[in-house]
Amino acid sequence: MSWAEKLSRLTAWLAEQLLARRPVISCLLFAAAGIPMLLLFLGLQGFAQAHAAAGAFYQPAALMAMQALLAAVVAGLAGVSLYCWQRRKTESACHWLPMLTVTPTVITLIGLAIAYGLKDTPVSVAVLTAILLARALFDFKTLKPSLAIGAAMVLVNEVLVIQGVVPYAPLLTAPVFSGGELAWWWQIWCRAVLDFSLLSFSAMAFFLFSTLGQRRRELESLVRTDMLTGLANRRTFMAQLEIESHRHARSKRPFCLVMCDVDHFKKINDTWGHPAGDAVLVELGRILKNTTREQIDTAARIGGEEFAVLLPETGLEQAERVAQLMSSGVRSQIFVFDGQQFSVTQSVGIAQACDGDGDGAMRVADDNLYIAKRQGRDRIVASVATSPAAVDSQVACSLK
Ligand code: GH3
Ligand code: MG
Ligand code: MG
Repeated sequence: MSWAEKLSRLTAWLAEQLLARRPVISCLLFAAAGIPMLLLFLGLQGFAQAHAAAGAFYQPAALMAMQALLAAVVAGLAGVSLYCWQRRKTESACHWLPMLTVTPTVITLIGLAIAYGLKDTPVSVAVLTAILLARALFDFKTLKPSLAIGAAMVLVNEVLVIQGVVPYAPLLTAPVFSGGELAWWWQIWCRAVLDFSLLSFSAMAFFLFSTLGQRRRELESLVRTDMLTGLANRRTFMAQLEIESHRHARSKRPFCLVMCDVDHFKKINDTWGHPAGDAVLVELGRILKNTTREQIDTAARIGGEEFAVLLPETGLEQAERVAQLMSSGVRSQIFVFDGQQFSVTQSVGIAQACDGDGDGAMRVADDNLYIAKRQGRDRIVASVATSPAAVDSQVACSLK
């Protein structure tokens, strides 16, 4: 498998997990993303501890305490990863696990932002990244304690700094600026933290938006499609009919509407059962699809056992030929259920639209369908929907 394939599999899996929101996997993902972020701070501060010139920028006691806090949170997240990895195939996890995973990480990052000086460092981007990821993986309830504690920490810190009770950026000693320039260590620190945070923030935002976009397209397609047959549903058909009616009003090119209704369908359900009825509908949908032009015609299931087809730029005679093909396809289809064979027929009403009046064409096609039913079923009745008297100019033909 190529790297590109592996990557697209991984992103598809991540998108799936994001939607499924299984607590175990969400905690695992959050820990896997949080550990590198915290390790970055741990590493940079570790370097400062070992390097006298960089270490001079820090309050030694505060630095030691911060290192201990970071090490504890990283160890906690590693423990969460291990716990979740062992339970990745099961649904069983303590209900407080998400909160226990998210809260220390977000609070630690907010603590870091305060320790380095709220207004002057890019730690805020890391905080935003953590909050965004937490919200994507968990519900708002999980994030609430982090947000409440974090907001209180920021507020109390601001008040105490203004009153001069605590220093601004309590982790640091030396001035961040030397002359007009950032001191060398802060140039490295700021770039490392900003680049890492921005990179992960952008990757996350892009990933989330593309996942949402993909889901939106899937939902749109679900809203437009009939679940059983995969054809367009009534809503899509009506929207397409309106578009075609406007086009027809401008171009004056003919278009036809075909309505099909399975004959005695209730009997099929009653004799062979509902699943057999469904199988018949699926097959009829396939026949309708195969007899119509892809991308041009619209075949739809508009009711229980009623189908409709929109045939743009098609005259009445041509529409009748298409309907005959459909009806003979339906009639010659043999269904086998419980070892016994049966077949079905359909009645068809066709109308050629006039003056861009799609609704009028639909009414006439419907009327023609009921005339076909009254005349004995398994037949096609077609007419031009010229006026209310259109039914008089009916062209009826029996297929038998
Ligand atoms: P006619 O020839 O006059 O059209 O008679 P009919 O039995 O086909 O018409 P009727 O309206 O009396 O019955 C339609 C039946 O279609 C009733 C309903 O239970 C069934 N039906 C509607 N939707 C579905 C579906 O999705 N699946 C199945 N299996 N049956 C359905
Ligand atoms: Mg019906
Ligand atoms: Mg019927």
